[in-house]
Amino acid sequence: MLTTEVENFPGFRDGIMGPDLMAEMRAQAERFGTEILTDKVTAVDFSERPFRVSVRDTEYLARAVIVSTGAQSLMLGLEAEGRLIGHGLSTCATCDGFFFRGHEIAVVGGGDSAIEEATFLTKFADKVTIVHRRDELRASKIMQDRAFANPKIEFKWNSQVTQVFGDTSVTGLELVDTVDGTVSTLEVTGLFIAIGHRPNTDLFVGKLAMNPDTGYLVTQPDSSRTDVEGVFACGDVQDDVYRQAITAAGSGCMAAIDAERWLEHQE
Ligand code: NAP
Repeated sequence: MLTTEVENFPGFRDGIMGPDLMAEMRAQAERFGTEILTDKVTAVDFSERPFRVSVRDTEYLARAVIVSTGAQSLMLGLEAEGRLIGHGLSTCATCDGFFFRGHEIAVVGGGDSAIEEATFLTKFADKVTIVHRRDELRASKIMQDRAFANPKIEFKWNSQVTQVFGDTSVTGLELVDTVDGTVSTLEVTGLFIAIGHRPNTDLFVGKLAMNPDTGYLVTQPDSSRTDVEGVFACGDVQDDVYRQAITAAGSGCMAAIDAERWLEHQE
């Protein structure tokens, strides 16, 4: 729902707007009788069956549950982010890199994601500046070496992005030096934020097995089964590797098949 043009979903050779793709998926599911309630789940109880899923005072009972709450890209917390996302500001180089052919752009972050995104973006952009708040990268050595050797990549060390300029699309950045506080500007037409992702799993702490460091739900290999029988997980909430709309959709199909087969084996 947050993206604009989706160019990499099979079947849409001219691309499709993110919200339109979601409306299509919704209508297709409804055609087969899916009932969709749009609300925010406030609590779950997976300790006994039927499972309980609560939305404030309303409790829904379920024989099986598929969790697909996704993940969110961490953002810098700047006012312009909400306004300019999809208009020069992006959190996904694989999705949006193509639109920056010939541009000068920036990537924020110093981890593997930032370096991977920056390296990928040099296929399209003329120049990629990595803006990092310290003077050394967190990324693995091999990724660092690759970035240092890439003539299209430059670094702005000890720099924090404090403003993104542009009314309808990104025109530049305000940077503050984290050591001496000096303010400078960087003229770019694109900004990729790669400072990490957070899966939406707060609701499941202590209820479903998750990676203790990252919070991603743990599913059994080659399946969508969680550690609670009858509860399945799919999409970005359990995948920190691929994170694409199509891989999430595919893993949603796996969860549907797993849940149906599991239900059929119940009395
Ligand atoms: P990460 O390792 O947590 O790195 C986040 C980076 O963003 C850090 O350099 C951090 O700076 C910076 N950062 C965080 N908050 C910030 C803020 N508010 N303002 C400015 N900078 C900020 O996240 P990641 O790069 O997404 O990687 C996540 C995991 O996936 C890692 O384990 C990584 O190895 C793995 N991964 C692997 C590959 C690969 O092997 N091909 C590719 C992508 C990701 P500091 O360094 O100062 O903390």
